[in-house]
Amino acid sequence: MTMTQQNIAIIGAGIIGMMCARTLRDQGHTVTLYNKDGFPSTSSASYIAGGMLAPYSEIDHMTPDFIGACLHSIDLWRDFIKPRPDVHFTDKGSLLIAHQEDLHMLQRFAHHLPNDENKNVWETLSRPQLEDKESALPSKFQQGLWLKQEAAIHPQNVISALHDEFTQDEGMTLIAQSVTPNDIAGHFDHIIDARGDGAMHDDQNLRGVKGEIAIVHNPDVTFTHTVRIMHPRYPLYIVPRRDHVYMIGATQIETSQDDALSLRSAMELLSTLYSLHPSFADAKILGFHTGIRPSYSDNLPRITQRDNIITCNGTYRHGILLAPSLAEGVANAVQGTKINPIYTKPLPNRTQKVA
Ligand SMILES: Cc1cc2nc3c(=O)[nH]c(=O)nc-3n(C[C@H](O)[C@H](O)[C@H](O)COP(=O)(O)OP(=O)(O)OC[C@H]3O[C@@H](n4cnc5c(N)ncnc54)[C@H](O)[C@@H]3O)c2cc1C
Repeated sequence: MTMTQQNIAIIGAGIIGMMCARTLRDQGHTVTLYNKDGFPSTSSASYIAGGMLAPYSEIDHMTPDFIGACLHSIDLWRDFIKPRPDVHFTDKGSLLIAHQEDLHMLQRFAHHLPNDENKNVWETLSRPQLEDKESALPSKFQQGLWLKQEAAIHPQNVISALHDEFTQDEGMTLIAQSVTPNDIAGHFDHIIDARGDGAMHDDQNLRGVKGEIAIVHNPDVTFTHTVRIMHPRYPLYIVPRRDHVYMIGATQIETSQDDALSLRSAMELLSTLYSLHPSFADAKILGFHTGIRPSYSDNLPRITQRDNIITCNGTYRHGILLAPSLAEGVANAVQGTKINPIYTKPLPNRTQKVA
């Protein structure tokens, strides 16, 4: 199919807006990117996100028909990083572990994983196998699960790399301004609305789910896999970044208020790190960050279209994971070709009439 070059506006420079801009630019379109807080968008949820590309770890938070799209998206991330060596990416899989008193949670979690007799997707690890993967893991962790196809990417590296490319690209215009699709209607062939939680005033179906993370530097220990510690309240992950920097997160709180991190959350995050390895007691805290996950009632993302406005939102805990695949879907919508139907399902309407 031959593609006509279009004049496209994108509102929002989080991971969704940036990856849509990159995909549409690569297809030869002219792109104008609006972002209310300038570039790169350091206050977006995307900028502070963990960057786990972890569909199986997140199996409780999505429907099984999303797994294929997630694995495809991880492949697209693999292609993305090839010409961009500054973007930190690892695909050694994730390790799931539990303290002795929470072992039942690990065992229960394994029941949610797909049957996998050939051990292509996941494997239960004994203590020696666990030690083989992460020699620093203390002996109190006697068992683990290895989710082999999972990966992690550093979202800030992605956003910075794309920002650098866009500023040198004549086909791209970056405008630091808050706009709505209605404000700029009539000026573009298509408008992509990627405002994340910034669209909540216009979309009554969106809600915010706050997440909090801590970043620490610990030169005294080396972990190379994403490690998830089973936690009674929410999944907590430790994601190793370059130079012995570790991210721990994230909390999950039903609120749209992006205010400061609470003392309770800080204690939970830091004590989990300390419980992973005692050397974290001397780690340096590099920062605490909070962000709002834009979410629909079923916590699944949507691509919707009204006239020439295409909206991509509701990525909840999975915006980094799914961004390349969603950007592909948005580009298909621009061209008028088929979008993966998992992204276009109507929202569930569970409201009952009051008699
Ligand atoms: C703590 C935390 C950890 C997370 N960890 C992971 C993870 O490990 N893996 C994963 O896949 N996902 C993770 N997520 C989820 C992921 O961050 C989100 O799903 C994703 O970032 C949402 O991207 P977005 O581009 O839709 O929204 P955002 O990142 O919020 O970006 C929206 C952008 O739109 C701009 N904007 C808003 N309104 C306007 C306007 N009117 N005009 C112009 N610009 C506007 C904002 O300034 C912002 O730059 C995490 C989220 C949080 C909070």
